[in-house]
Amino acid sequence: MSIKKAEFITSSSVYTQCPPPERPEIAFIGRSNVGKSSLINMLTGRKKLAKVSGKPGKTQLINHFLIDENWFLVDLPGYGWAKVSKTDRSKWGEMIHDYLTERKNLINVFVLIDTRLDPQPVDTEFIQWLGEKGIPFALIFTKADKQSKNKNQSSMAKYRRVLKSQWETLPPMVLTSSETGEGKDDLTDYINYCLQV
Ligand code: GDP
Repeated sequence: MSIKKAEFITSSSVYTQCPPPERPEIAFIGRSNVGKSSLINMLTGRKKLAKVSGKPGKTQLINHFLIDENWFLVDLPGYGWAKVSKTDRSKWGEMIHDYLTERKNLINVFVLIDTRLDPQPVDTEFIQWLGEKGIPFALIFTKADKQSKNKNQSSMAKYRRVLKSQWETLPPMVLTSSETGEGKDDLTDYINYCLQV
């Protein structure tokens, strides 16, 4: 079932400020510019939803949206900025670490990957960390429309190879394009599955 209602609830700088953990929660994270805002907007059918929280000064916060009055979609600040100071990076690390390890109602993390790039250490190290912590996650490959189907398949295969060398089981992977809507149904189905188990 696709998303019918999406409303911005709040932005928090630490996980203890987040809304009471009374509903299941699914978080989205990835490198800055990976296409996270576009994907959230595509998924919720709202052109500017993710931008609500994207105002200057709010980008480094944990943003909660209530979906269909049933679950929280969480937009986490992106990683991998070239120009971010060490202090800001460690603040980001602490905030994300605490949120991901402490948030009781977190049922899945979507890690967004730009399909055009070869596996990047910043992403594979983060994935490795999620695995070690036992935090459930799936990979979303973004911007599928930007290259050929063959290239998309070989990019995903590269990821599978890297992850297979570290883990016995591979995480679920969904190929998406916010431009064409590709992968929206798969993503919605996977979210519904997460909400049911
Ligand atoms: P964020 O920083 O991760 O939230 O990324 P944005 O959603 O703001 O997207 C970054 C840039 O990539 C913008 O210029 C988007 O228009 C573009 N973009 C995002 N998703 C797609 C996509 O699926 N296809 C194409 N062609 N461009 C995209």
